[in-house]
Amino acid sequence: MTLPDSTTWPVITPADRDAVLGVLSDGALVSDRNEETAVDRLETEWAEYVRARHCIGVANGTIALELALEAIGVGPGDEVVVPALSFVATAMAVVNRGARPVFADIDPVTYNIDPDSLRAAITARTVAVMPVHLHGLPAPMDQVMEICQAHGLAVIEDAAQAHGATIEERHVGTFGSIGCFSLQATKNLPTCGEGGLLVTDDDAVASRLRQLRQFGEVIERGRPRKYLSHIVGHNAKLSSVQAAFTSSQLRRLEATSECQDRNVREFLTALEPLAGLHVPRAADPRARHVWHILRFRIDPGVAGLDRSEAGPVREALQRLLRAEGVPVTRYQLIPLSDQPAFSDLPPTTANEEIPVTRAVLADSFVLQRRHLDPSAAPLLRQYAEAFHKTWQHVNLVPALTASRRR
Ligand SMILES: *Cc1c(COP(=O)(O)O)cnc(C)c1O
Repeated sequence: MTLPDSTTWPVITPADRDAVLGVLSDGALVSDRNEETAVDRLETEWAEYVRARHCIGVANGTIALELALEAIGVGPGDEVVVPALSFVATAMAVVNRGARPVFADIDPVTYNIDPDSLRAAITARTVAVMPVHLHGLPAPMDQVMEICQAHGLAVIEDAAQAHGATIEERHVGTFGSIGCFSLQATKNLPTCGEGGLLVTDDDAVASRLRQLRQFGEVIERGRPRKYLSHIVGHNAKLSSVQAAFTSSQLRRLEATSECQDRNVREFLTALEPLAGLHVPRAADPRARHVWHILRFRIDPGVAGLDRSEAGPVREALQRLLRAEGVPVTRYQLIPLSDQPAFSDLPPTTANEEIPVTRAVLADSFVLQRRHLDPSAAPLLRQYAEAFHKTWQHVNLVPALTASRRR
């Protein structure tokens, strides 16, 4: 069975189309012209929105992470602590700098980096920490900043999934030295393709990031480009078309987020009564969750089974829900540390045990994207009904897990 799904993400309005077509007609196609471009405008708007001194637009969220690490001087021999549950880009950016990602465990309720595990991951080689505001929920920045200040470590925030998320009104991305956002089309603030934004309050870091983005050159508005490369940089520029689309989306980001928040809260409240289902929540009342991904944990006890059966119980429930038309999937099949690409990392003296990450990956599934469309409320009500129906048949789960084992 499939439920009729009229939701889309990103939602593309006539205003978004006009913004893109506007770039085509005014001819400012590249960001290195003398006059102000759509990229400059987006940078100003995003800096204002998150209340940062500087914003630098780049080609994607991954290169934003890499340039951030490069701007603060991370290189070979260094270690950077990252959470073991994230998109691969978080750790890959570190490896691409020639540095060693060290994997910290996560919190079992928020899925964000666990401060105690972060402490255990610090060695004499550690130079920076990259907290990820996973699924749209701010990482515990009070504790992360305290630990990093005590050890003299830089903080680079991976806010790719958390545009508009705040802790006491302060935007994620503005706690550490540099905040990195992705504008990739599936994110909460999308572009019509690929893009990224960096924010920082540090003038020197901002100019370094601008140089790194464009061949180490210094680009000054109103002056001809000199083609002088002061440092070795990259071509990591954001395109004007992408920027104009995102500016148009940004105009309604707050309204969209509020609508998403209402829809998701109604949905999660409807699921609250289901035994053994842990729905996502913002554990810290001061944090604003922007619900990029909804992760659900399953307690195998609900089907009369124990912890060792968590994976099979989760899988059986996932199959039952999918049969009812709820497109639950998994987000990250393995911890970052198990990615084949990272199998040859140099040794570290850090403690890299990540039991919580492993447990969460075994016993949880996610809903993605459908809930981001502001018109998703009716679909989410159908999903909630399907969850209730599935839970009425939870007694089937032991048989299903047994048949899988045979
Ligand atoms: C999407 C994402 C990235 C990478 O962003 P791209 O724009 O796709 O390169 C990095 N970190 C996290 C947590 C992400 O979700």
